[in-house]
This record gives sequence, structure tokens and C-alpha cells, in this order.
Amino acid sequence: MDVYIIIAVVAVVLGLAPAFMARRQGRSFVLWWIYGAVAFPVAIIHSLVLKPDYVVKCPFCGGMTGVGKGYCRRCGYEFM
Ligand SMILES: [Zn+2]
Repeated sequence: MDVYIIIAVVAVVLGLAPAFMARRQGRSFVLWWIYGAVAFPVAIIHSLVLKPDYVVKCPFCGGMTGVGKGYCRRCGYEFM
């Protein structure tokens, strides 16, 4: 029983890595966290090759940036 709890905790912690990387590309943090916890080796590679949903020019920092969830991943500016 304890072993399963440890495995679950490790999976949840490991799952944070692809979740943070996917979030930088504008993807859902929670969905990628679950994905990372369930299938970490697949999710970590998948998150590394993720491309932003689309690229726009940020009006705040002026850089070209990929946004998915409506924020600039360079400066954090939120698009409306
Ligand atoms: Zn910006």
C-alpha cells in the first residue's frame, strides 16, 4: 500500500515538469500535469517538441511570441 502512495507522489511531482513546459506553449497546465503523471516518458518528450498554438506580436514587450491561453510567454502580458 505504501509503495503505491510513493509511486503516486513521484508521478505527480514528475508530471509537473511537462506541465510547466506545456504551459509555456499556452497549453492546459492541469491536463498536461495529468498526462505527465500518467505517462511521464511520453509527456516529457511531447512537451519538448510542442509548438505554440499561434504566434503574435506582443503589444507590451514588442517581441514575437507564441500564445495559446492568451498571455505573452516572454513578459506575461495578457491578451484580451
Ligand atoms: Zn510580451
